[in-house]
Formats: sequence, C-alpha cells, structure tokens
Amino acid sequence: MSPIYFDNNATAPPAPAVLAAMQECLLECWGNPSSRHRIGASAKDRLALARTQVATLIGAAPAAVMFAGSASEANQTAIRGALAMSDGRRHVVASAVEHPSTLLMLRHLQATGVDVTLIGVDGDGRLDLTALEAAITDETALVSLMWANNETGVLYPVKEAAQLAKSRGALFHTDAVQAAGRVAIDVKAMAPDFLTISGHKLHAAKGVGALYVRKGLSLPPLVFGHQERGRRGGTENVAAIAGMGVAAEQAARRMEQTAPAVLALRERFERGLLQRLPQARVNGAGAPRLPNTSSIRLGLLDAQVVLELLDRAGICAGSGSACMAGGNLPSHVLLAMGLSEPQALATLRISLSRYNRADEVDTVLEALVAIAAAQQERAA
Ligand code: PLP
Repeated sequence: MSPIYFDNNATAPPAPAVLAAMQECLLECWGNPSSRHRIGASAKDRLALARTQVATLIGAAPAAVMFAGSASEANQTAIRGALAMSDGRRHVVASAVEHPSTLLMLRHLQATGVDVTLIGVDGDGRLDLTALEAAITDETALVSLMWANNETGVLYPVKEAAQLAKSRGALFHTDAVQAAGRVAIDVKAMAPDFLTISGHKLHAAKGVGALYVRKGLSLPPLVFGHQERGRRGGTENVAAIAGMGVAAEQAARRMEQTAPAVLALRERFERGLLQRLPQARVNGAGAPRLPNTSSIRLGLLDAQVVLELLDRAGICAGSGSACMAGGNLPSHVLLAMGLSEPQALATLRISLSRYNRADEVDTVLEALVAIAAAQQERAA
C-alpha cells in the first residue's frame, strides 16, 4: 500500500504532467538556452513558455519573472537587492514568523549593521498592522511579510502591508511560497515590489524558485551572470523550470475546484479531531488560513513520537517547518504565538493537496485517536 501523504507544505508530490514535461525537456530541449542553434533555441522556447505560465499564475508580465535555484535564494536576492537599491536606507521590517531563509538572512545583515525590526503576532498567529505601521520609518528600505505561514497556514494582510510600505517610500517583498497555487494571487491588485514562489510546493521539482520583480526596478543579482536579464547568473535549470511552468498552469486552471475541495477535507479532519479528542487544539484556528493547512496538538503528546507512530502506520505528516525536522527545537512560529515549549513540541502539521481524499483523512483520524489512547494508557 502506498503511504498516505499529508506533508505538502514541506514538498508537494510532483504532478504527472510535471514529470512528463521535465522528461521531455531533458530528452529534447537539453541544450543551453543561450546557444544560438536549434537545440539551444528549443530550450530557450521552453524557458519562455514556463515564464509565461508562472507569470500567469500571479497576474504578472513574463518579463517580471526571474527564475532562481530555490525560493530561499529568491527571498535572499530580494532582501539584499532591496537594501542595495535603497539609497542608504538601512532598516528592514519583517514578521517574527517568517521562514528561516528570510530570518537567517536578516540575522546575518544585522551583524553587518542593518537595523531589523520583527513584528510579533497574537495567539492565533495574526499580525498587528498598527504595529507594522509604527515600525516603518523613513529609514526603512524594505518591508518583507510572508503571504501565508508554512507551519500554521495563517494568512497575512500583505495588500495592506504593501500600501503601508509604499506610503513611507520603502520597498515591499512577500514570500508567497505557501500561498501560490492555493489562494489567488494578483500582483496587479496588491502591487508588491518582489514576490517569491517555489517549485516544490506547487507539485513541481525542488531546486527551482521564482522571484517576481516589479517593472522598473533594477535588481542587483546575488549571483552575477548574463542569464535572467542579468538578475541571476547560472545556466537555467530548464527541465525543472519547464516543470514549474506546467505546475503553475495546472494550479491556475484548477484553483477554483481545488481550493474548496481541499478546504472541505481540512474541515472534515479538524471537526473529526476536535469531536473525538477533546484535548486536541488547532493552532491559529481563529485566523484566516490557507485551505490546506492544519497545525494541531494532542494535549502535550510529543509530536516526534506521534509522527513516528503515524509513519509506522503508513502516514506521512510534518512537525512545524521541514527545515527544522530532525532537530528537536520548538518552532519559532509557535513560540511567537505564545505557545509554551511543550505545546510547540507537541505540534503536528497536516498539510493537504489536491491528491488527498476523504478516506485518507478518516484513516489519519483513526490513527491519531488510537495513538492518543495508547499513549494515555501508557501514562496511566
Ligand atoms: N518560504 C516558505 C514560506 C517556505 O515554506 C519555504 C520552504 O519550506 C521556503 C520559503 C523555501 O523554499 P525552497 O525550499 O524552494 O528554498
């Protein structure tokens, strides 16, 4: 029996059409897109198609999309680039619940003299816009706020934050890695300066990401080279990019059906869990959230133990962010929400995709109820 997969915020399984596009690319358009012969031209055409498909998912013009080796790289290109473009402004505002690829870059910049303000969140993970507004000064080069949190699925007021940043002459970046393909994104409506997405959260491959860069901004690269309009050096990973294009096209075309179907599964899961295990809690339940993410805790049962038992039962789920997996540190996101260390260490993440079914949700519910009962018996 193939495992039941509920860890889509870590990596979503590659879609069959993505695999087909990648294979076709490796077999038929494997040339260097910068080469001026027919094999290079076919790679260049594939790149152009993928750029249009990714741009369409976020309502952008294709020229505004820069491909990168990961969303982590895209985030860091935006942050460093914004500081370099900001005429001596040396202050960055972000939330305390950003992904480590943002927070670790900010910590590094702080050591070089950049002033960083991290805005906290409330018990449901919601960000206080008034605090954000108060933190932005005439020295602020960049406001960076994720669209949706990878651990809890909580959605952030990115449109309002973009307006606040703009009103003070600061640039605005959003890490939309978990939002892309799950909620509608239109860069024309929210007007960010930079927006990050990742291939492997969209049912494409790992090792490919994209950064939207608003027209008119001349973004300095992290890696110098002539590719990607001089914004990112390195021969493009055409097969992975082609796959990301197909994934973006499928996500855009299917979102209207996928989002409510996935939300119905999440509601079935959370309703069933809270009915059957009175000690269970859903983190961020009071905040607007992505349709696919459920961050839960079963009393103070250690998440690593529960995950191991689920895995033995053929069910793959996550705890907090994938990047922390293996380590036993409580998640910075959950601590920022005011959870205690034991509560944070008890938190599991069930993250769904369009490939999940109701019977799989019922199976994980049965498994969690059985695990909780067995652990209670042991403790008695
Ligand atoms: N931002 C968020 C919100 C994420 O969840 C992740 C991956 O977990 C990343 C950035 C980094 O993506 P990548 O693995 O493509 O570097």
